[in-house]
Amino acid sequence: MTTYIDSGTEKLIKYLVVKVLAGHGYAVQAVYEHIVNEVSPSVLAHRYGMSKHQLRGYTQRVIEKTGSEWRAKALLRLLTPYILRVKPIIIFYGNGKAYCSYCREEVLVAKAEDHVRRKHKDLVNVIMRKILHEVMSPRRVEVRQYLV
Ligand SMILES: [Zn+2]
Repeated sequence: MTTYIDSGTEKLIKYLVVKVLAGHGYAVQAVYEHIVNEVSPSVLAHRYGMSKHQLRGYTQRVIEKTGSEWRAKALLRLLTPYILRVKPIIIFYGNGKAYCSYCREEVLVAKAEDHVRRKHKDLVNVIMRKILHEVMSPRRVEVRQYLV
């Protein structure tokens, strides 16, 4: 049995980090509660003010990146606490408008994730590496258990 972090794991972290940077940490929380705690989509849709359709879309993308539901569950359990510690850079100020505190541009609310993904790729990569490093170093045994 070998320890490995594959490109799917990196893609998963980047996908979730973009959401948190864009101020959509609630979406990460909802996916976590759905996949890890098996809370139903209708409960979560209500709790987080999103549609069941959106939640299903996020869940599907997470499972695609990890390769299986079992692996998604294990990785989310391990990674989500680190991911939710990331501070958003998109600040919402109403009327469908938001502001990026990183580049100081105005951003449409509907384009928040696009903005982060396209303009702050380097930042997303740095945070992804930092999270991987944090997860790997003190808990190697536990990580091995999750990633085999
Ligand atoms: Zn920006």
